[in-house]
Amino acid sequence: MRINSIKYNNSHVDGPGIRTVLFMQGCNIHCKGCQNKSTWDINKGKEISINDLVNELKQKVFNKKITISGGEPLVQKDELVILIDKLAEEGFDIALYTGHQRDEVPTEIIPKLKYLKTGNFIQELKTTIKPFVGSENQIFEEVSKDETTK
Ligand code: SF4
Repeated sequence: MRINSIKYNNSHVDGPGIRTVLFMQGCNIHCKGCQNKSTWDINKGKEISINDLVNELKQKVFNKKITISGGEPLVQKDELVILIDKLAEEGFDIALYTGHQRDEVPTEIIPKLKYLKTGNFIQELKTTIKPFVGSENQIFEEVSKDETTK
């Protein structure tokens, strides 16, 4: 799969707790005012195998809390499904940030997520108050209250 970058163990704004953020490469939504345009081109970033990525995350994420963002993670939907499957097996607390709506998220991954952020960024609705989102229209929800991943 193609990734842009990984920010380890230092985000407080991409879901509850201190989280590692995986920025996936590729975005076809192109929101006005996007702060992350370096993620748009699917041919940029770097290629990494899913197994290598999972192993790296297992070694470096100190609390097993990860947010998968982008870019738009659903651009690499098939790879994303496998990645989430493997991270869930390893007991990760997973948040998925997508610019799409909830009904466009593959149903098989929903039960494996702890949190889900849906909706594209709308510059005119930008917020610094609503937790864990960039604009008022976006929805951040807890989708699994299963505490086994604590
Ligand atoms: S979905 Fe995210 S990465 Fe894509 S354009 Fe919108 S804000 Fe930028």
